Amino acid sequence: QKDIWAQLKDEPTTTSDGEQVELAANIGTPDDVHGVLNNGGEGVGLYRTEFLYMGKSDLPTEDEQYDAYKSVLEQMGDKPVVVRTLDVGGDKELSYLDLPKELNPFLGFRAIRFCLENEPVFRTQLRALLRASVHGNLKIMFPMIATLEEFRQAKAILLDEEENLTREGIEVSNDIEVGIMVEIPSTAVIAQQFAKEVDFFSIGTNDLIQYTMAADRMNERVSYLYQPYHPAILNLVNNVIEAAHAKDKWVGMCGEMAGDPIAIPILLSLGLDEFSMSATSILPARTQIKGLSKGKLASYKDKLLNMATAEEVVEFVKEKAK
Ligand code: PEP
Ligand code: MG
Repeated sequence: QKDIWAQLKDEPTTTSDGEQVELAANIGTPDDVHGVLNNGGEGVGLYRTEFLYMGKSDLPTEDEQYDAYKSVLEQMGDKPVVVRTLDVGGDKELSYLDLPKELNPFLGFRAIRFCLENEPVFRTQLRALLRASVHGNLKIMFPMIATLEEFRQAKAILLDEEENLTREGIEVSNDIEVGIMVEIPSTAVIAQQFAKEVDFFSIGTNDLIQYTMAADRMNERVSYLYQPYHPAILNLVNNVIEAAHAKDKWVGMCGEMAGDPIAIPILLSLGLDEFSMSATSILPARTQIKGLSKGKLASYKDKLLNMATAEEVVEFVKEKAK
């Protein structure tokens, strides 16, 4: 097993019928990049920038952030790095921001909602990212997007900072893709509208599942409802992929589901382009994908999407895996 993994470390991720997908990693700090490269990661599909803001007494400066982003980009060379802008609130609290307690933090003032109302904080991060962009293959992603207006507003602020930097004579890459996380059902349902304006999507199933099923991802009592294979989830994922592909955009997934051996054949059948997971899952996933035919899996797509329960989906996948 270890031998096969070692052999596949520097190989592309190819199905048995010659189709290629990308296996990327989720990271939280620049130190995580070694692990990504040692495990054959083809990119960073999600850099959670919260850690820069956590465990300290004040906001990180523009230069502190620039150093972190530059370090990740340089270490990754020309491989893509998707950096997610600040996603605080929900389960991630920042003591120094002194945000009011909320009854439903997961449905509250978090992520892009916070950033759009605290523009100076958001602008500092965007400037750091734009400055770092010349050191690698940067893609910028906004979290918790529920409406098109939020995306337009966030992108306008990004473009504004880009203009400011250019005016100040600071170099910025001219091919930064700008995308969104799909982790709120409203966005998955009208992905067709978003696909006209975003450069890419990354599906955040950790949140998408909790919001679709109305089951708190931290609450054990309702964890039986937290069902990644529920046909509702599969139909939302499929809608995003179809909408994106109709506009020649790519779709990744950076929730836990992307590295799950039961989900992988389903996601291949739906045509997912990029799978972002913990680094240690990459070589097992590449090994699994090598043995799967995308064409054959695609022929099961309609059947999977028309199933009624998660149990049916899992039974079917296990049966076909034999
Ligand atoms: C997600 O929601 O799937 C995701 C990747 O983001 P996080 O787990 O950081 O909320
Ligand atoms: Mg999330």
